[in-house]
Formats: sequence, C-alpha cells, structure tokens
Amino acid sequence: MFDNLSDKLDNALHVLKGHGQITEVNVAETLKEVRRALVDADVNYKIAKDFTNVVKEKALGQDVLSALKPGQLMVKLVKDELTQLMGGEAAGINLSGDPSVILMSGLQGSGKTTFSGKLASFLKNKKTKKPLLVACDVYRPAAINQLHVVGEQVGVEVFSDEGNQDPVAISKAAIAHAKQNGHNVVIIDTAGRLAVDEAMMTEISNIHAAIEPQETLFVVDSMTGQDAVNTAKAFNDRLDFDGVILTKLDGDTRGGAAISIKSVVNKPIKFIGTGEKMDAIDVFYPSRMADRILGMGDVVSLVERAQEQYDEEEARKLQKKIAKNAFGFDDFLKQLQQIKKMGSMKDLLGMIPGAGKMLKDVDIDDDAFKGIEAIIHSMTPEERSTPKVINSSRKKRIAKGSGTSVQEVNQLLKQFNQMGKMMKMMQGGGGRQMMNMMKG
Ligand code: GDP
Repeated sequence: MFDNLSDKLDNALHVLKGHGQITEVNVAETLKEVRRALVDADVNYKIAKDFTNVVKEKALGQDVLSALKPGQLMVKLVKDELTQLMGGEAAGINLSGDPSVILMSGLQGSGKTTFSGKLASFLKNKKTKKPLLVACDVYRPAAINQLHVVGEQVGVEVFSDEGNQDPVAISKAAIAHAKQNGHNVVIIDTAGRLAVDEAMMTEISNIHAAIEPQETLFVVDSMTGQDAVNTAKAFNDRLDFDGVILTKLDGDTRGGAAISIKSVVNKPIKFIGTGEKMDAIDVFYPSRMADRILGMGDVVSLVERAQEQYDEEEARKLQKKIAKNAFGFDDFLKQLQQIKKMGSMKDLLGMIPGAGKMLKDVDIDDDAFKGIEAIIHSMTPEERSTPKVINSSRKKRIAKGSGTSVQEVNQLLKQFNQMGKMMKMMQGGGGRQMMNMMKG
C-alpha cells in the first residue's frame, strides 16, 4: 500500500536527520520534498501546498519540543497533519434506524456490489445485526446475479425483483420485506455507470429522496487517484452523502485519493476495501493510515486481527499442551490455519513497521504454507503427535507423499523443534512481555 509515497516521504524526512536544529532553510527543503512526494502520489497540488504550509508553521513554532531530534519532530508533525487531513478520528456508521437503511452509490466497477457483501458480512458478525442485501441495478441482470452470489458467500439474504424497472419501488418493497422478516439493516446496492451522468444521478437522487436512508455511502476505486476525488465531488453535490468507501487499497494505489478526498468533500472515509474476498474490509482509522503511509507499520491493526482469531478456549488447551511438551503437528496445522484467516501474508507483513518497504518488490505467495501443509498431511497421526519417531525412512516416505524433498522435511522438523523451545520460554511470562511491547 502506497509504497512509492512511503519511500519518497522517508527520503524527504531523512534530509533533516543529522541537523542539530530545525531552521527555516532545512524545513523548507524537506517540505518541498514532502510536497513533491504528495503531488506524485496524485494528491491535488493545492491540498499538498496547504498541507506543507501548515506543517511548516508548526515546525517553526515548536520551541518547546526542541529537545526532540528534528527528524523525529518532523515525522510527528507530518503524521499528525496527515491524520487530520484524512479526517482525524475514525467515523462510524449510523445504525439507529429500524431497520437502518444504507444506500450504496458510486460508478460501475468501483466495487459497490463487493463492498455491499463485505459490509453485510461485517455487520452480521456483530451478532446483533441481521442484514438484508437489496439488488437495485435494473439494467444489468448480471449485477443482480452477482449480488446473489455475494449474499450466498456471506450467508445473507438478498432481495431482488428481476423485471421490475423501478428502483424506488424495489427499495420500498425491500424495506417492507425487512420489517416483516426481522432484518434490522438494509443495504441497497444501486446501478452505477461508467462515468458520471445525469440519468444515474437522477435515479440515485430519487431513491435517496424516497427512502431517506440513515447512511448514504459513496464507493470509489482508490486506484483512480484524482478522478476518484472528482467523482466524489460530483456525487456529493447531488447526494450529500455521509461517508466514503475506498476500495482496492490492496492494489498498486498511489495514495492520492485516500489523502485528499476528505478535504475536498468534507465527508469521512468510513471503510476501506483491501481485496476481492469478503473479509477484506477494514474500518478506516486516519492515524493508522498515516502510520502506514509513513512506513511506520500498523501494529494496532495487526494485533486486532490476531485478537479476532483468538479463541480463549483453544489457547488454554494449547498452553497445557506446550507445558506438557505435547504440542504436535496437528496443533501446528491449526495455528497455520488461524494465521491464514487473518488475511493475505503480504498484507499482514505490511503492517509490521519497516517491513512494508523491504517487501515491496517481493512476490509473497499467499500459499506460502502449502508445502508445510502438504508435509504435515503426509504424516501419520503418530508422527504428528510424537515427531521424534520420524526416522530417515519415514522422512523419505513423507517427502514422497507430499511432493517435497527430505531436505524440506528436515527443515520443517528443525523449525518445529525450535518453535517448541521458544514456546516453552514464552510460557515463563515472556509471551505477555512481548504483547506488552507490541502494544507499547
Ligand atoms: P460495482 O460495479 O461497483 O458493483 O463493482 P464490483 O463490486 O463488481 O467490483 C468490480 C471489480 O473490483 C470486481 O472484480 C471486484 O472483485 C473488484 N474489487 C472490489 N473491491 C475490491 C478491493 O477492495 N480490492 C480488489 N483488489 N478488488 C476489488
């Protein structure tokens, strides 16, 4: 995410390191670089200029903080200002209605249907919500099918009325259906077009006026940079929407849309889409995003993702096993599966401070565990629970069965042993210390 921008900002801010004092000259130089980095990332020139002016004023007025190193101070100022520019605090969605109606708007291909499914799944996981998805694209039967597929994937009912050409009528019928069937959230996926046009705007405005949704969300593809910002402006002028959804942030996005959209439409980014799968949705936290842009990682999100997968009961069982030296390959396999549920490897590693930059050209296979899993699957139950019985003839058999080599089997066994030792060490309180350090 934003690799190029991160690199350039990093370079710009490095200039100040080694200087004893913040002076007008070195601040000006650094900020010129920062501004160039932002403009290269497709941030509107005026926004970039205002941004650097604010940082400059603050930097020169920071006598009190002169104890800090100038480089660090600048990083902090830039981070704080980036956070402000992207909205300051995270903004929630309004779910106060009964049912709460959420209207999705945006161009075709922006990721509306995908996001509708992700949001339905996100809310459904909150247990107290029972969403209903509504297909209101009356022009493309394929779009209705797509929503049905998405609904099935996330286990959420989809309301549609193929052949009905009136999206207002469909929306109203859907809300009535929701009331009758105990759905407390209604997510309406509307028709988009390839470019902003009058017919689309009139249609979505009519739906908006007729159903008075609690939330109107504008979905936009972050890869489109300045176009994303212009489209947002056009929709906001007509719809006065409540929030922005930035999709495709997992791609090769330059970052301009994420940074400038809030200040152009004065509406918060509420969620981001980070992949095609239904769980690739994140609440947008401006300060965490600023950390990521500045290559500082996002440890908080990483810990949260880990916590989502954390099962206390399982953890207790595991601890007992470790204490008794009975941690086997089956447990290991379970752990791998949990890690995989946390998201794509590259995405996870990108949240580790400093790692994003190192990994940007590395192609990380999401199935990096495939070989390991194959090896474990080729072991007998006895071998999995008591790995020390694995002698050389067993190793050969396992390698053959898993399509790997004896060397790879050896490597896994070695790593497994080391891991066992480490886990025993962590049992002595080291684990908690490590968690505390990460939260630090
Ligand atoms: P709609 O026309 O606005 O409903 O857009 P779709 O939901 O059909 O999405 C268009 C394409 O973008 C599809 O191929 C989606 O799989 C893809 N897509 C949507 N959201 C994301 C995302 O966050 N990341 C990536 N990589 N692809 C996405």
